[in-house]
Amino acid sequence: MTTSSPSSLAIEGSHVLITGGAGGVSSTATKEFLANGCCVTVLDKRSVANETLALTPEQKEQYFYVEVDLTSESSVEAAFVASNARFGPPCILIANSGTTEDNSRRPIWELDADSKAHATNIKETLLAVKHFLLSVKRFQESTGKELANVAIVVTGSPTAVFEQEGHVDHAVSEATLLHGFVRVVQNDIVRLNSKARINAVVSSPINTLWIEDRPGDQKVMDAEHRATVASKKGAKPEEVARTLLYLASHRATGHIRGVCLDAEGGIEGRAIWKEQQGPIRVGGQGLAPPIRRRRMRICLSVDFDGLSGYLGTGHDPHNTLSDYSAGLLSANVGVGRLLRLFTKWSISDKVTWFTPCHSLETFPDAAQQIIRSRAEIGLHGYSHEGAYSMTVEQERDVLEKCIDIVTKLQDGKRPVGYRAPLYQIRETTVQLLQDHGFLYDSSMNAHDALPYFLQNPFPVDEPHVPDYSQNASTWMMPTPIPSQPLRGSAEAENALVEIPGSWYTEDMTPLGFYPYSANTQGYVSVDVVEKMWWDRFDWLWENECWIDEGPGQGFGSVFPMILHPESAGRAHIVGMIDKFIAKLVARTRVAMNSEITFETFESVARSWKDGSS
Ligand SMILES: [Zn+2]
Repeated sequence: MTTSSPSSLAIEGSHVLITGGAGGVSSTATKEFLANGCCVTVLDKRSVANETLALTPEQKEQYFYVEVDLTSESSVEAAFVASNARFGPPCILIANSGTTEDNSRRPIWELDADSKAHATNIKETLLAVKHFLLSVKRFQESTGKELANVAIVVTGSPTAVFEQEGHVDHAVSEATLLHGFVRVVQNDIVRLNSKARINAVVSSPINTLWIEDRPGDQKVMDAEHRATVASKKGAKPEEVARTLLYLASHRATGHIRGVCLDAEGGIEGRAIWKEQQGPIRVGGQGLAPPIRRRRMRICLSVDFDGLSGYLGTGHDPHNTLSDYSAGLLSANVGVGRLLRLFTKWSISDKVTWFTPCHSLETFPDAAQQIIRSRAEIGLHGYSHEGAYSMTVEQERDVLEKCIDIVTKLQDGKRPVGYRAPLYQIRETTVQLLQDHGFLYDSSMNAHDALPYFLQNPFPVDEPHVPDYSQNASTWMMPTPIPSQPLRGSAEAENALVEIPGSWYTEDMTPLGFYPYSANTQGYVSVDVVEKMWWDRFDWLWENECWIDEGPGQGFGSVFPMILHPESAGRAHIVGMIDKFIAKLVARTRVAMNSEITFETFESVARSWKDGSS
């Protein structure tokens, strides 16, 4: 027997196409294929840093990167055209793309019903294999001969075999691809190319840079993976990459086809008990995690700015009649839509409306609808005035007139909450609110998920801004920050409660558009904004809303939201608000013992002051 090839793989000169090539295993595989004399095209949405690949001048000529959206068929098709033009038809495909939502780790009952993570994973692989085989087909039709060494290797993880909590989405796609797709396609492809084959490699855990770069993750790896691997080591990227090379070579693998090869070191399962869950208790009740209590208060608020949004802080001499008409939409359309939404979800009396009194007096019908909904009414200026534009006397006059209007509207119930128009609150505002017996403010954000006490004056001293005409020693000094008073102390009793509100917790910043205001945007997909809100909720739910420990100890977390009828009430946005509230309501229903509640700002402020969870 003679050997015509310099290696046992006999893949020199082959064109290898790798999808998802920017990952740790893929970049290692890229180097290995290049070292074996192959040309390599990498398809991914980001490229690998040159220094990571450390290519020789010769290898640079054999390497090609194409930026691609692997979920878009037209993008994948174009990428194959480009790679064919560079190196001819690829004969080896390493289908290594796919994303996981590992960070979410939600059990199935908390899974987003609209999640498409598994579908995305499957689609990326399906599109790559489809266009790879189409490329083979076109070559064969134009030349009348079979392309040599046609091999597909699909990569994946053992999630679907070794149960891993919180990975339903991932497991669905891995099971489909590794144990269904590969076995079916092995029969299809021989109709196209008699020697073609498809196999899969399962590889986990892998010591990629992604793991090593994160301090502390070694411990996670030990707990979650290595505990069940007899050799007590994770796979190295080179080890997995060489398994890919092996399966890519017809010469090396002979008749192996349709198999799923394990490259995970003999893993026997997942560690499903985390260290932070405490000791395992064995008894009549079996294994049970220690009871941990959570608390999340959802505070929905509506700032009904109406026309006043264009009078005070939103005044601009260029404002037109058309701009003002958006204020009419706010009152005549947006308010009704939001009120009907709150009724639909039975939370009308858990919502706080911060309402400029100009809106209440200009739109009495809308005002009456809000009052009848039994919502809490907080103050928000008269004409949406900016505090820094007024004298203290003007601020007092505005506040007292607004207290009077709202008290009369509510049959004698005084308002206890305040949000400054455009969050423009200053020390004198705090003093005025205290002088008039207010319970809380919601204009600041020294925290984003916990109330705190707002001392007066605030701040104690102006921060020293560098005055470059003076000696540097005149401004180099720390800013005194008052410490939080102890709950129950006289200072705490007299302090306003601050329930945070900010640009990040509202709809108007991204979804509203004021032509002459720099801080509005307007042309943003509601999906993006909804995701931002969910990211906040989920992170707090997983990390900080514990009553027994952590930053929310004794209280939990608060989730404040600020909506505006002028933006949230518009037809292209209100549907997202509806879905968002529906999901929040669903969470309240699956949560234990009223862990999640909708509450007014007043209710939250009183709980904070009382120290009740
Ligand atoms: Zn406002």
